[in-house]
Amino acid sequence: MSVLHFIDAHIHPYDLVGKAQRAFDPGLTAFLCASSHTMEELVFHRRLSGTLAPATMLCSFGIHPQEPDDTALEVLDRAIELGMVDAIGECGFDLYNPAFRASLDAQILVWNAQVERSLRHGLPLVIHSRKALPLIFESTARLSRLPSVIFHGWPGSPDEGIAFLKRGVNAYFSLGKGVLRGQKTVLHSARTLPVDRILTETDAPWMAGRGEAYSREIDIQKVSQCIADLRSVSLDTLCSRVEKNFKEAFFLAHPSRELL
Ligand SMILES: [Zn+2]
Repeated sequence: MSVLHFIDAHIHPYDLVGKAQRAFDPGLTAFLCASSHTMEELVFHRRLSGTLAPATMLCSFGIHPQEPDDTALEVLDRAIELGMVDAIGECGFDLYNPAFRASLDAQILVWNAQVERSLRHGLPLVIHSRKALPLIFESTARLSRLPSVIFHGWPGSPDEGIAFLKRGVNAYFSLGKGVLRGQKTVLHSARTLPVDRILTETDAPWMAGRGEAYSREIDIQKVSQCIADLRSVSLDTLCSRVEKNFKEAFFLAHPSRELL
């Protein structure tokens, strides 16, 4: 029997199945966190997670900063109440282009509301940030009171990551296909962030590499191998460490989700 190795801390199975027009295939991935923005996606992910054993798939639900619609907060509250949500997000800020920047006020509103819910319910917070780390730093005091914070597609430098940790944020930094694109900052982070703080992800079907129409589940193998090479450790060593980090970040080892 094959051994499951890989950890995909941020993936969109609903979108991937829609794009690829085929069933979801986690391959040798042992742990995943599926990101949802609508109840339809969340229900799809919940059903899917029941079919993936022995792989474990968690479900996050959040209001994405590219569509900061505060009426979706009611859906989030209902999903939390129904026990369907393992983490809140992805949420955060996206200031990548003028169209996104125009909705900054709405982004701030839904960000604050989601940080507040993460605190109230003791749920990990999954962050999306593009060109917006200073805004996330402004929330450091509140983030340091959350059970954990997972930066998906960590966009910052190792020093910025360490600054969050030093300020008491229980932060994890998920690295994805940016490492395969050879982006300098991402490579530097992949090489030097503390080993007990890194996660791996595909963000599939998004974050396509050069020449790809979309990203696939199996890309987690290339991402993981690349990070193992950058850190000069074996793939096995990297994957077992990331598995431990994933369990700590999402409180799989301590289901009581005690606040720090
Ligand atoms: Zn995503």
